[in-house]
Amino acid sequence: MDDSNNTTEITLDDASMASFDHIFINANLATFSAQYSFGMYTDEHANSIPYGQLNNAAIGIKNGSIAWIGEHNQITAHLTHYQDHQITDVDGKWITPGLIDCHTHIVYGGNRSNEFEARLQGASYQDIAAQGGGIVSTVTATRAADIESLFAQSEKRLIALMKEGVTSIEIKSGYGLDLDTERKMLTVARQLGDKHNIHVSTTYLAAHALPPEYKSHVQDRTDEYIEQVCEWLPILHSEGLVDAVDGFCENIAFSSDQIRRVFEVARSLNLPVKLHSEQLSDIGGSALVAEYKGLSSDHLEHVSEYDIKKMAASNTVAVLLPGAFYTLRDTKLPPIEALRRHQVPMAISTDCNPGTSPLTSLLLAMNMGCTLFYLTTEEVLAGSTVYAAQALGLSNKGKIEVGCDADLVLWDIARPADLAYQMGLNPINGIMVQGKWRETV
Ligand SMILES: [Zn+2]
Repeated sequence: MDDSNNTTEITLDDASMASFDHIFINANLATFSAQYSFGMYTDEHANSIPYGQLNNAAIGIKNGSIAWIGEHNQITAHLTHYQDHQITDVDGKWITPGLIDCHTHIVYGGNRSNEFEARLQGASYQDIAAQGGGIVSTVTATRAADIESLFAQSEKRLIALMKEGVTSIEIKSGYGLDLDTERKMLTVARQLGDKHNIHVSTTYLAAHALPPEYKSHVQDRTDEYIEQVCEWLPILHSEGLVDAVDGFCENIAFSSDQIRRVFEVARSLNLPVKLHSEQLSDIGGSALVAEYKGLSSDHLEHVSEYDIKKMAASNTVAVLLPGAFYTLRDTKLPPIEALRRHQVPMAISTDCNPGTSPLTSLLLAMNMGCTLFYLTTEEVLAGSTVYAAQALGLSNKGKIEVGCDADLVLWDIARPADLAYQMGLNPINGIMVQGKWRETV
């Protein structure tokens, strides 16, 4: 296929063509860039090229960014200027943007496999909660862990995701539910990003659940706790720990009025918002996120068409979490057709968490998105790259385009669909993050 008529041609002089830090040659690219006619949720979709693919292509990297994209033939005359270690011959295999896991809770203490086991032996959620299980057990273990132990426990999950080509990740707090532990979780998230060659976006999720010490049989103390959540946010933000603000808007958690109070504080600090919405019921969380021009509304099994229209108008991404759907043996599918019809961009994520989605494979999440949610392979791949980047407000990531960060994954696959089709196989050939090869693959 020759896409040269569709591309934005960037012509460089000979000196520039000889001065890249690194070049990829003989590559097939899944660009997910509108410049290469990628377009899933646009009126021009009928004329778009799947995956925004470019065949027989080459990429020039400079200063950590993509400096040039062209046809393989255009670079061949300049190869003599490069040393062997600066050239990667992709040999007709595929390069995608680095994968982006845009909704995770990977920082937590402990483990809930005992509850998994007990449930399979017949225990109910109520039995488990009565014995201090459920989210309370994770809060207890996370509070008890010192920062080194919390880092070590969480790092294992991060490395599993990194090995599959994840180059950007969102990490939420929300198992501390007190100021010190929320700070500890966000600090660990930052430390993970500092140690490893990965971009970390942090999200403040103190409005995740009512802490055990606020539970009362005589009065509803949720408003009182939300006041605390609103007070802690500016403190943690001033410490450089918060990139975005999230909440759990649900009958069993917090109302949309309570979440609105948290969002008001976020707005006053110029922090973007997102929300766990409509997972178990429809209480208008997505319309609330849209009102605050939020980055994403996440879960969405029960979202209404009214809310979907609001999301479309505010360009809010729908983040779909098939791992939680699978673990909970949910049967209510998110309304994929309505999201498509209203051109709401969809992202896919692991939702890695100890209770409802102990999943550290974004490739498996993609497969689940296809098999459980009936998404197309192009949708789940776009949902783990370009739209996952949008869900994190990262305009320089998630696509292969001149000016974007050189976050690239080389795959030993024949077609992009292989990534969503295979289960348990990791066809990674190399991972580059901001122009640097990742060593730990
Ligand atoms: Zn979640």
